[in-house]
Amino acid sequence: MAVLPLNEQSFEVTVPVLIIGAGACGLTAALTVADANVGVLVLERDAVPQGSTALSSGMIPACETKIQAALGVGDTVDIMTADILSKAHGETDEAMVRAIAAESGPAIDWLVDDHNIELTLVEGFLYPNHSQLRMHAPVSRTGADLIGSFSRAAENAGIDILTEAQVVDLYADEVGRIAGVRLVRPDGTEERIGCEALILACNGFGGNAEMIAQLIPEMSDANYFGHTGNQGDAITWGEALGAAMADLGSFQGHGSVAHPHGILISWALMMQGGFQVNVTGKRFSNEHLGYSEQGRIVAGQPESIAWNIFDQRIYDGGLDFEDFRLAIKSDAVRKAATIDELIEITGLPEDNLRATMAETAALAAGEGVDEFGRDFTGNPALQAPWYAVRVTGSLFHTQGGLKVNDQAQVLRQDGSPLHNLYAGGGAARGVSGPSDWGYLSGNGLLTAVTLGRMAGRAAAIMCGES
Ligand SMILES: Cc1cc2nc3c(=O)[nH]c(=O)nc-3n(C[C@H](O)[C@H](O)[C@H](O)COP(=O)(O)OP(=O)(O)OC[C@H]3O[C@@H](n4cnc5c(N)ncnc54)[C@H](O)[C@@H]3O)c2cc1C
Repeated sequence: MAVLPLNEQSFEVTVPVLIIGAGACGLTAALTVADANVGVLVLERDAVPQGSTALSSGMIPACETKIQAALGVGDTVDIMTADILSKAHGETDEAMVRAIAAESGPAIDWLVDDHNIELTLVEGFLYPNHSQLRMHAPVSRTGADLIGSFSRAAENAGIDILTEAQVVDLYADEVGRIAGVRLVRPDGTEERIGCEALILACNGFGGNAEMIAQLIPEMSDANYFGHTGNQGDAITWGEALGAAMADLGSFQGHGSVAHPHGILISWALMMQGGFQVNVTGKRFSNEHLGYSEQGRIVAGQPESIAWNIFDQRIYDGGLDFEDFRLAIKSDAVRKAATIDELIEITGLPEDNLRATMAETAALAAGEGVDEFGRDFTGNPALQAPWYAVRVTGSLFHTQGGLKVNDQAQVLRQDGSPLHNLYAGGGAARGVSGPSDWGYLSGNGLLTAVTLGRMAGRAAAIMCGES
């Protein structure tokens, strides 16, 4: 992975806009460029475009969408900006947060209206720190369906995606203008493709154990649940080009991945009244602060294990999630008619688990104050039958990256934009602050879609859209 001098390098073919990565960011950017009647080519290292997008729950937060309006949700750019900033404790770029929130609604409307990407509003509960219903997702609530509909939209728009094409080097002239890339095929053959503008949509460095150990050491022993092809290439190239970077220690974790099944168990269960205990049968945190920071907290519990405890009402709500239905089929979700049976099927220490069950019931009834600060009164008290899932904490994706402006142009250290280089999604700095606690649910796909659209628009203008 290097940035090579241009010298006399010639290219087999040259396109106006080249995009590296065919996840949500790359395909959003490609659709935007194609809509502007500018030529675009997407390069993807895998045989089938998937990325972390395919592994996700497909939830894209957005405000002021037509879908929200039809359901009477009064969300605004101001409210969404405030929610993102509040979760990140203000430790992120406020102007970028506002620009991203402002882009979110038009982006969702455009994907639905112009590209037939079917999205529905997730109703019934709010994710931590979201003050409005604003998660737009496929009906199945799976990233597999989301990337499937993006791929279909790209095909319908006549966008070329060259798969099994891993970009290894960029070519740049002496002032840092990108002229093209070198890619390798699985059989080792190489190709060189020239471009007028390059969009980096190759996500972050979650799949690169060395970079994780260096930049996010607290998660180096945790299970990585994202796409392994995301190796931090954007950062390596950006460094060589003198690009500015920020928040490289920032990441999205998750405290609820069924273990050993490896299936995401939606945090909706916690928001609707469920709770977590560790192997001692005791609670250890305020589950409502956020699932991202809970990844590190659960990974730090004895044996790196927690149990999600919930009841029939919550189980029934979970059935809206395809992943939850898969977890049931995989026997990850265990049922108990009584607390005795719950103790038996989990193997948790009897006295502690009984005490925890009694304490959470009292808190739900408004008696006492939770030592971790959670308010249990927003949901009905849990009742038999009980359910339990054994989970672990995971690293989902990194949130730090290349600094970009509101046209998704990659910036130099002095704040000036590099000539023709753009970045979005996990390749760019996110809006989650410096660590894991600043991640507001959906910040990942939010910046994939919005920065992807901004990058596509700016690159198309640069290449003279018609
Ligand atoms: C289990 C899980 C659940 C999640 N749920 C949600 C959710 O519901 N909502 C949300 O907002 N976020 C969620 N996220 C985060 C979200 O998936 C990511 O933030 C988002 O998918 C990033 O999109 P992207 O396009 O930047 O990257 P990706 O979708 O990962 O796409 C990057 C692509 O670039 C390719 N690539 C990388 N390097 C190269 C190279 N050198 N040459 C060619 N191709 C390359 C990769 O193969 C990949 O296909 C979740 C993440 C995980 C792991």
